[in-house]
Formats: sequence, structure tokens, C-alpha cells
Amino acid sequence: MSFAFEIEKTAGNARAGVFFTPHGPVETPAFMPVGTLATVKALDPDDLTRMGASMILANAYHLHLRPGDDVVREMGGLHQFMRWDGPILTDSGGFQVFSLAQLRTLNEDGVEFQSHIDGSKRFFTPELVMQIQRNLGADVIMQFDHVIPGQSDEASARDASERSIRWLARCLAELTRLETRPSPLRLMRAEPDKTAVDMPYVPTRTGEFAEQPRRQALFPIVQGGIHPTLRREAAAKIASMHDWPGYAIGGLSVGEEKPAMHEMLEVVDAALPRTHPRYLMGVGFPEDLIEGVRRGVDLFDCVAPTRMGRNGAVFTHEGRLNIKRAEFRTDPRPLDTACDCAACTRFTRAYIRHLFIADEILGLRLLSLHNVHFLLSLMRSARQAIRTDTLEGWAREWLLRFRATPAVEV
Ligand SMILES: [Zn+2]
Repeated sequence: MSFAFEIEKTAGNARAGVFFTPHGPVETPAFMPVGTLATVKALDPDDLTRMGASMILANAYHLHLRPGDDVVREMGGLHQFMRWDGPILTDSGGFQVFSLAQLRTLNEDGVEFQSHIDGSKRFFTPELVMQIQRNLGADVIMQFDHVIPGQSDEASARDASERSIRWLARCLAELTRLETRPSPLRLMRAEPDKTAVDMPYVPTRTGEFAEQPRRQALFPIVQGGIHPTLRREAAAKIASMHDWPGYAIGGLSVGEEKPAMHEMLEVVDAALPRTHPRYLMGVGFPEDLIEGVRRGVDLFDCVAPTRMGRNGAVFTHEGRLNIKRAEFRTDPRPLDTACDCAACTRFTRAYIRHLFIADEILGLRLLSLHNVHFLLSLMRSARQAIRTDTLEGWAREWLLRFRATPAVEV
């Protein structure tokens, strides 16, 4: 099974669809839990399956540095390594190179930087990033892009956006080269090319050879900061280059005002083909998900639910709360009375607060589990509302209830 996108129903610009991948279908709109280091922090893949997660994320930059994409390849690729049979998307590392790494030097060829782990010098090019993601073997892979701060002026945003488009062409050429190499099984029967670093065959523990997925969907990333002209130009240029299996929208929710983000989504929504899935990168707060869905976005990811969980912060249908607060010391209610996750159906706020305060691992686990479940379930409700033609009313009511309680700082 290769890649395809079917739209079942639309409501305004919102769509309920199915994105087919070699590791199974993804019903959209969907939230994708983030497993940066090949693990969604504190959660087992079985937890994710039970919660109804379909596609999850991992990160090429982090896995390249540790344990090394060569290690992942040798262990059979990411699906086998982390025991997740569903679809996986890897982010290219552009965001991490430009945010986490130190002492960057950028030129047209790529970016030199120091690893945030051990300070070692690295040089990422679009080609290398494709090779890394080929080794990891995710279903959907992202282009390497030049990421700039959200509020950058138009000239810097244009420079980065145009460079990202030139790098996109190099990513596509490299992926095509990697995919058209002879079948690894045929290579085995003939003479294996020991010098080919990107040869995607995998020795398993039983001595057999398993083949990495042959097809990976490369998503381009529409950049352009908060400049409508740049966003429009980038979307049009990218869409005219190739029949991409899907499109990502990057560089939003990085400190700009909400109306600016909504405007950019509207501009990009109008400029991209409606026939393909759209993925809004790194955006995962409930309000943003709903506003994104209304503007034609199909896929979302964000570290917020697990990161917030580790700080004691919890999404509920009545807004956010922080479990550390003294008022929950003897609260017999679940985290969220409207939630049917494995934490809310069994444990009280009082108990989870106790675990959290006492630094018990189970506390972090339950909070992460609830927060991830909350967003997965939110997108399932949105999907249902699109299918029943009730999206606008549902969204209005949902947001009213969520905003009724003042947000707790988290
Ligand atoms: Zn819950």
C-alpha cells in the first residue's frame, strides 16, 4: 500500500479524510503524539494503541545524534526498533538545528553546527538529512528547511523561504536516488555493495534480511513567517514543483499573535491543493487544533501534552488546571469528568496530585496519558462534527466551555 488521501466530507474549509500509508490508515483530522527519541515520553506503544493514536512522530536530528540512525537501521528501522507498527513521521531536524544546536554556520550547501549533546561538529545538508530519514525508515519524512525566528523581517523570511525551496529540490533528488537503488534483496544475492552507506537492507537477529519500507512520502514545508505574500509564493512554487503526497506548514505558533497565525493558515489553505493532506507543524494546544481544522489542516503534532504533563499541567474540557495546587489535595473527582482515558476512569485528582508531589513515576505517566488522550479524542470529535455537518456549532460550544475558566499558567 502506497500513499493516498481520500476526503470523505467537508465542512467549510475543514475536511474529514483518510490518509493511507504503508503502515495503515490515518483518519483525519488527527493529532500525532510526539516521540522525539523514538518514545512518546512515559508511554508504552500499547498505551498509544489503546488511546487510538494512529500516526506518531520521531525526530531525525535527535535520533541521528543518539543512538545514531545507523543503529536504528541495523535494528530493523524505527518501526521495529520502537515496536510501533503504525505509521511514523520523522521531522527532518531543521527546527532543532536552528533552535537547539550551538554555533551554527549556514551556507547554501547546508548548516554546520555543534551537537547539543557532546559539542561535536556536524554538517547537515539536505542530502544527508534524506539519508538519515531513509535509515530511520519512517513512512512520512520531512524536507530539510532553513528555519528562522517567527518574527523575522520580510527580507530574512524571504531568504530562508527561498533557500528552503532550493533545498527541497535537493531533498527530492536525493530521495529519488535512494529509492531507485537496486532492491536490497537482489543486492544480497549478487554482491553486496559494502561501501554503500545508504543500502537499506537490514540483518535481523535470526540472520534473515528484512527490507526497509521502499516508499517514503516526502512532505515539503511551506515557510514564509508572518508575511502573506511569502507564504502564498512559497505554497504556489512548492505545489508547482512536484506532485507531493502531502504538505507541511512550518514556522507558526512560535510567538506570533493568534490572528497572524490564522491569517497565514487561510493564505496557505487557499494556495495549496485541496486534494492532499496538510500538516501544521508543532501546533498542539486545543484552541489551535480547532482553529487549524476550521482552516483546512488535517494533521497536527506537539510536545505540549507530554511536556505539560511533566509539569503537572492538565487539559480539561473546562480549561487547563495544575494538579500541584493545594485545592486538589482531597479532590475525589477525576482529572476531567468528561474524559474516558485510563487515568480518568480509575484515579482521583487527590491520588494523582499525591503521586506528582511525591515524584512518583506513575504520576507523570498518568498526566501524559490523559493529555495525549485528550488531544486524540478532541480530533476524533472534530472529525465526527465534520461528518455530521455540525462543525461550526460544535467548535463554538467546545471553545466557549474550554475558555470559561481562566487559563492556569503552565
Ligand atoms: Zn483523562
